[in-house]
Amino acid sequence: MPVQLPVYMDYNATTPVDPKVFAVMAPFFCEAFGNAASTSHSFGWTANAAVDKARMQVAALIGSSPNEIIWTSGSTESNNLAIFGACKNYEYRGRHIITQVTEHKAVIDPYKRLQSDGWQVTWLGVDRNGRIDVDELARAIRHDTLMVSIMWANNEIGTMQPMHDIGRICKSRGVIFHTDATQAVGKVGINVDSAGIDLLSMSAHKLYGPKGSGALYVRNHDPRIELFPLFEGGGHQLGMRSGTLNVTGIVGLGAACEIAFQGMADESSRLAILRDRLEKGITTQLEGVHINGGGERLPHCTNLSFADVEGGVLLSSMDDVAVSSGSACTSAVKEPSFVLKAIGVPYELALASIRFSLGRQSTVEEVDYAVEKVVAVVKRMREMKAKPE
Ligand SMILES: *Cc1c(COP(=O)(O)O)cnc(C)c1O
Repeated sequence: MPVQLPVYMDYNATTPVDPKVFAVMAPFFCEAFGNAASTSHSFGWTANAAVDKARMQVAALIGSSPNEIIWTSGSTESNNLAIFGACKNYEYRGRHIITQVTEHKAVIDPYKRLQSDGWQVTWLGVDRNGRIDVDELARAIRHDTLMVSIMWANNEIGTMQPMHDIGRICKSRGVIFHTDATQAVGKVGINVDSAGIDLLSMSAHKLYGPKGSGALYVRNHDPRIELFPLFEGGGHQLGMRSGTLNVTGIVGLGAACEIAFQGMADESSRLAILRDRLEKGITTQLEGVHINGGGERLPHCTNLSFADVEGGVLLSSMDDVAVSSGSACTSAVKEPSFVLKAIGVPYELALASIRFSLGRQSTVEEVDYAVEKVVAVVKRMREMKAKPE
């Protein structure tokens, strides 16, 4: 069967909405349009019942109770609410907080803001695999440490952090443990109780739900966590997040969680096989390929660096395979990814890096096409470099 082009291999950036998710959302736009906060009529009751169902679906996926879910607009907001909300509410405990250097910008930038406001921040480094050292974390905790934010899995290299060890340390020292689990939710098993998590950020569009919908898990027992809100308003969601609920987005997130939960084991092993086929296909045909990130990794993605090729040309030659680069193209100047820098990838290699992330629609044929493409592009670039005109 011929491969349909372009091939999408950027599932860590976003995923398509699952048609089953879309079907569940659809009635809540035009027919069941009620405000979930309207308690005096059936329009409101219908919307509220749908939100309650979604609450159970999300809770089941992460092992929480339904009433510990706060709806947000996505992981950026969930991270901001977790970090600023906890710091403002528990400031009296101390103004020292801990995170690590390969977090998503939606964690790094709130920490930087707090730092410039006079908070003391410990930035833990990572090893060559992208993992923090839990002993170093334990040593960094002081009497005035309020919170630790460590992501479950990295979005660029897929490295998973030792969550259970971190949770145990935080619990024993009475420190709030926040995790950005955006890339892990629905991909690997998560249980907030066994991992000792107090706050967990997630986003619908990374797991086949709609964009602009997310959730923050907020522990409400042993200990109960309260967050100072980011904005004031109608006092929705226990006063932690005002604003009329995005019922369609919430219903979509719930359905996406249920589907992910049901298919997780099978889909993860299917994707791990595809990912290994991709890595093997490329590394057996090309010299000088480095796999970035290691140890326990997400099953569906890989980040590869190619020696002796120019990063910009490499990416633009991958025209019909949608992948992501190892560089931040947010500015006109190409900068290598700070994540790759943090795990010790040299400058030139970091610029010549590609992140492949697979998902529900990925096939063996697509993987083989991508392998063929990369191998051809890299070989051609190296030949041209070897004998210049
Ligand atoms: C995508 C992503 C975010 C941002 O999520 P949005 O819902 O797009 O705001 C945050 N953290 C990680 C790890 C991500 O992958």
